[in-house]
Amino acid sequence: MATCQKCGGYLDPTARFCNVCGSPAVPGSTSRKSKTVSVLLAVFLFYWTWVYTYKRDGWKFWLAFVLSGLPILIATVFLVFYVSDVAWLPDQLLIGLSYGLPMAFWLLAIIDTLRKNQQWYDNY
Ligand SMILES: [Zn+2]
Repeated sequence: MATCQKCGGYLDPTARFCNVCGSPAVPGSTSRKSKTVSVLLAVFLFYWTWVYTYKRDGWKFWLAFVLSGLPILIATVFLVFYVSDVAWLPDQLLIGLSYGLPMAFWLLAIIDTLRKNQQWYDNY
């Protein structure tokens, strides 16, 4: 059942205005998302919070997914070719990236979910 964005009263699915307070009925308010859930997901599951709001944040999820996995890929390639004595890539850089990138996306996910106002989630 759809509810009014302003007063919380129940809306008739065909109504264009709330018959309690008279404010316009916002379409798609039935698929609203919770900001609290998004923030908690960001805190505990890092960038996986963007799967919850995938319709709008899908690209952020894939960006974080690919970039977080990149250092592991580089490290694997590096280990394979480590047999040569040309150690062109310092270990510290790889270690830094493999911790730093996921940490950066963790912070970004938390900031991103906090930054979006309730209206964003209501109109999801
Ligand atoms: Zn209303």
